[in-house]
Amino acid sequence: MTEGKFPHQRGESHGGGRPRVVIVGAGFGGLACARKLDRQPVDVVLLDQDNYHLFTPLLYQVATGLLNPADIAYPLRAIFRHSPNVRFRQATVAGVNLMARTVQVRGGPDIPYDFLVLATGSTDNYFGNQSIAQLSLGLKVLPHATRLRNHVLTCLERADAEADPAARQALLTFVVVGGGPTGVEYSGALAELMQIVASKDYHEISRSEIRIILVEGSARLLTAFSEHLGRYAQRVLERRGVDVRTNALVKTADQQGVALSDGTVIPSRTIIWSAGVRPNDPVGEPSPPRFRDRRIRVDARLRIAGAAGAYAIGDVASPELGDQRELPMLSPPAMQGGRYVAAAILDAIRGDTRERAAFHYLDKGTMATIGRNAGVAHLPGGLEITGFFGWLTWLFVHIYYLIGFRNRLSALGSWAWDYLRHDRPIRIILATGVEPEPAASVGSGSARKMD
Ligand SMILES: Cc1cc2nc3c(=O)[nH]c(=O)nc-3n(C[C@H](O)[C@H](O)[C@H](O)COP(=O)(O)OP(=O)(O)OC[C@H]3O[C@@H](n4cnc5c(N)ncnc54)[C@H](O)[C@@H]3O)c2cc1C
Repeated sequence: MTEGKFPHQRGESHGGGRPRVVIVGAGFGGLACARKLDRQPVDVVLLDQDNYHLFTPLLYQVATGLLNPADIAYPLRAIFRHSPNVRFRQATVAGVNLMARTVQVRGGPDIPYDFLVLATGSTDNYFGNQSIAQLSLGLKVLPHATRLRNHVLTCLERADAEADPAARQALLTFVVVGGGPTGVEYSGALAELMQIVASKDYHEISRSEIRIILVEGSARLLTAFSEHLGRYAQRVLERRGVDVRTNALVKTADQQGVALSDGTVIPSRTIIWSAGVRPNDPVGEPSPPRFRDRRIRVDARLRIAGAAGAYAIGDVASPELGDQRELPMLSPPAMQGGRYVAAAILDAIRGDTRERAAFHYLDKGTMATIGRNAGVAHLPGGLEITGFFGWLTWLFVHIYYLIGFRNRLSALGSWAWDYLRHDRPIRIILATGVEPEPAASVGSGSARKMD
């Protein structure tokens, strides 16, 4: 490494003059990158607005009272406790100046970088529909999951005491928008929660009063999976009491419920939005090249065009894969991208001028669960698994990837308890000053309060 080769090497970093890598976002991509750079001759500053890494694939289980929030979140400082060169800082990044090579953090001085890894993930996309954005509940981050749990349980509490049939019906109707993995998994988990909880503990509510309606715009569920798996998911959901409406779009929402594209109006106090995502990216002007969905269009080596030392990985970016195709917004491409970029940065630091082979995403398969004993998995070589074995495969893969032995043990324990006892003990309604309020002030008789 040549002394002074990188602009920010002059001792302002904690490691004393080594190149500084700033990683924005400690999700799947950012964390994989930071881990690969651990104990390497670089100073890594890992920034995230939260002080934990979130295992998003198990958010539904938190939202439906199967798992505790702490089971799926791991403190970032604990991960790098023994690292000599990776430092975590909780900070919200407000902007990135790709020309000046600085990251702007809210309430703090700019952070200069030699290498930037942008890994800020994605957020809900409402396609400009303000009413849905205001009135629906998302499921992207941990506070969303606890808010949704609070909200659904509050609906049950209020319905149990509600005498007016129309008000009861709205409280007990849950509309899930989007039939991709998130919508399917949440609908399945919610149906299970209702079966376990509502029929046992709410004496004034009959199971037949509860309606879970899954609305999907295309002709079938799980369009990223094969037709066979999509149809299987629909059959299982319907058997479990979910009303699946395909070829239907939610047009508008108001305090009374939702209106579908075919004119149907569904009175409901709960709309769960899982019908679209968009990149969550703090890069300001000049804006790098983008796809139509606003993801940053990186080159085949995950570099941001025209921005020296800057890479973008995971949900926030994709290389062009031909025919306008992009990498899937899933955790494996984010993690593989993170490791690839770390290796490329180390090449650059070593002065290796040979260009690294283009990033290649290795698809190890995709899976989704529809609830107890039912899952779908598409594995390499075209192998498809459904039913109990699909569910078991899903369960073990997800437990395996959870960070932390305590979290794995705790999650497995909660599953075993739920499986054997048909019980969901994590059913406390929390609406403290710290947690966001439930999305709707259900049953108050006045306007819904949304945040
Ligand atoms: C409910 C749900 C279920 C899912 N299930 C699966 C599944 O089963 N399998 C699968 O492969 N994928 C699943 N995904 C998708 C998967 O979570 C994403 O593809 C993956 O997290 C992308 O990784 P990433 O590193 O790009 O972003 P993320 O993992 O989302 O990480 C982004 C990080 O950036 C931080 N951040 C964002 N903006 C800022 C800012 N301005 N300042 C500071 N920090 C910021 C965030 O706090 C977050 O920690 C699921 C997603 C959701 C929401």
